[in-house]
Amino acid sequence: MDGARLARARTAVREAGLDALLVGPSADLRYLVGYDAMALERLTMLVVPADGDAELVVPALEEPAATASGAADLAGLRPWTEDEDPIATVTQILGRYGTPQGLAVSDQLFTVFTLRLQDALPGVAFRPSGEVMRELRAVKEPSEIAALHAVGAAIDGVHAQVASLLAPGRTEAEVARDIHELIAAEHDEVAFIIVASGPNGASPHHAVSDRVLERGDAVVVDIGGVKDGYYSDMTRDYAVEVVPDGYAELHAVLEEAQERAVAAVAPGVAAADIDAAARRTIEAAGYGDRFIHRTGHGIGIEVHEQPYIVASNTAPVTSGMAFSIEPGIYIPGRYGARIEDIVVVTDDGVARVNHRPREVLVAG
Ligand code: ZN
Ligand code: ZN
Ligand code: ZN
Repeated sequence: MDGARLARARTAVREAGLDALLVGPSADLRYLVGYDAMALERLTMLVVPADGDAELVVPALEEPAATASGAADLAGLRPWTEDEDPIATVTQILGRYGTPQGLAVSDQLFTVFTLRLQDALPGVAFRPSGEVMRELRAVKEPSEIAALHAVGAAIDGVHAQVASLLAPGRTEAEVARDIHELIAAEHDEVAFIIVASGPNGASPHHAVSDRVLERGDAVVVDIGGVKDGYYSDMTRDYAVEVVPDGYAELHAVLEEAQERAVAAVAPGVAAADIDAAARRTIEAAGYGDRFIHRTGHGIGIEVHEQPYIVASNTAPVTSGMAFSIEPGIYIPGRYGARIEDIVVVTDDGVARVNHRPREVLVAG
């Protein structure tokens, strides 16, 4: 990792009219300096002044870890010992550039640190770092896009084996344990596993239960892992031995909705319009009130990140952005369905990261 991302962050801080960016342990910290710091009660904070060199305030006992990460090559290390006040160290660094007026602070910083910074810096306007980091993180570099394609291929490979795990008499938890092994074999880390059978499929974030699969269940399988720091996230729908009543028709609507939303993706198209492309199709089929979430979310070094593909996001997507297209239809008490692929915006359109068939796969 070189200092290019830090340089772009400084530019973004200046463009936002702020004096510095303060980054705690988070994906932003990994993104900027490659340091995967633990969020602890002891403050770790990267200070990125608009017009100066970045400095990393770290607990003295974390100094070896920070150095090993390579962060010390990009930012000056400012270790603090147990009898020092790290907030004072941060304000002292900021003070070198004059009295700050506005600061961006990590979206995911512990509240206690934000409150202490606010106490130490009365009158300073605090903004969430997401406003500064959004463009940087959302527009992927070529190496990041390659990583997303690689991890996408890995999860495609897992889904290729899921149907063989579904059989009457097995529990969701048993199936999930097998999927865990499969994900682990192809990724560095297992991120999440949703096996939502029958009525459980109607809850989009149902994880796993001891429900026993029955012949005629629809099963929503939404899984992801991490490989080389990048996430996969992919959903397919299965049926145990036979497709339940009405499910094929519902799924045909969903396949069309997903296809239309993917086809709508191109540089300059508003995220809201991509969401609308999926939603219109589902509404026209009478399931409008059963599509109860946004169409997608950005993905990269976090599983949910900018940009969000939602009606309220009227900003255009641009080349290099990566996000999910995952419309769903949920019928309480019966079943649910969701089709999810990751796509990348290209210079002239869109590329899919996942390639498995999207129709209901009948197991057994
Ligand atoms: Zn989700
Ligand atoms: Zn998912
Ligand atoms: Zn997703």
